[in-house]
Amino acid sequence: MAASTMLIRNGRPMGGAVADILIRDGRIAAMGAGLPAGDAVVEDATGAVVLPGLVEAHTHLDKSLWGMGWRKNDAGPGLLDKIDNERKLKRVLDIDPARQSARQAAVSVGHGSTHIRSHVDVDTDHGLWGIEGVMETRNAWRDMIDIEIVAFPQSGLLRRPGTLELMDAAMAAGAEIVGGLDPCAIDRDPKGHLDAVFGLCQKYGRPLDIHLHEPGEMGAFSMDLIFERTRALGMQGQVVVSHAFCLGAPDRDLVDPMIAALAELDIAIMTAARVSRTAPPVKRLLDAGIRVCSGSDGIRDTWGPYGTADMLECAMLVGMRNNCRRDEEVELAFHICSQGGADVMRLADYGLAVGKAADLVVVDGETITHAVVAHPPRRLVVKGGRVSARNGQCVRPAP
Ligand SMILES: [Zn+2]
Repeated sequence: MAASTMLIRNGRPMGGAVADILIRDGRIAAMGAGLPAGDAVVEDATGAVVLPGLVEAHTHLDKSLWGMGWRKNDAGPGLLDKIDNERKLKRVLDIDPARQSARQAAVSVGHGSTHIRSHVDVDTDHGLWGIEGVMETRNAWRDMIDIEIVAFPQSGLLRRPGTLELMDAAMAAGAEIVGGLDPCAIDRDPKGHLDAVFGLCQKYGRPLDIHLHEPGEMGAFSMDLIFERTRALGMQGQVVVSHAFCLGAPDRDLVDPMIAALAELDIAIMTAARVSRTAPPVKRLLDAGIRVCSGSDGIRDTWGPYGTADMLECAMLVGMRNNCRRDEEVELAFHICSQGGADVMRLADYGLAVGKAADLVVVDGETITHAVVAHPPRRLVVKGGRVSARNGQCVRPAP
């Protein structure tokens, strides 16, 4: 079904001069001053900033507790405590991945996200419950937001026999990306873990997006094994390292060679820019030509109470974590939450330009930096040429 024609009047694309944006058949057909409306539905942006759709490049749609009431978090202190706690509570609390992913997707749409990459748990207790649930949302909400699924061995891959077979089944079922997790710290078998996940990439011809929380020297060691496999298998441009806390180590002799290898192998970095951990230096990564994206990571889940799924707020957090103060630096943080995510997810149709998909956000503000630091409710969100949210609310109610 062809989308209707829409004319967004008096917006300021990327915070610049006032222009109209004509949308036809889900694409941006023209941009410029004083475009004729013809039979188009007119939306008046009254001078607000118009941005391309925001890109939530790392979250966990299957596990948010959004809309389930407040639950006191009394998980144990360690990483494995939190992993085991979550796996146990999924059935106890009925954290239904289909319902919860739809709820979080609706919140994301309200905040102007048009694309999500979600890691989704695969484990021997719950099998493909998460994958099937998020796939249900991916299909039912595809007119509102694009969702890409990473099969994610949250409980470890080799330490829990049977998980690798389930990961294989998740890829066969249609997950787009192979995930992985801390090859040394969780699986305690870095070679085995990485050979297994890279093996799945080879089998299905799919990219890798691996969680790497390992700090300092341990993280650098895992990075080196990732570099080795990326090079040997010719997977340049098809690997993302998420979090990469080790890149935030103060030792330049440790970090600089990793940045050089990331650039050489075109390996992308996802940073959620948490204040509680070391974080990759995004300005240095971007200067080296490395693709960088960001994401909310888990929001309101059994891991922790934080998160809003607002990628403008996320840009502010990236900016704060990286000491971005000048407007052009804050714009880098915005880039990471928009075009940067599109670069990592290889979204060819992305951008505020004629011929690109009509995925855009209208938000009050004088400039991009102003919109990032104030991140007021989005006035209008358009996905594929249709209005998907108004005044911060998705037009479709969540379940
Ligand atoms: Zn994550």
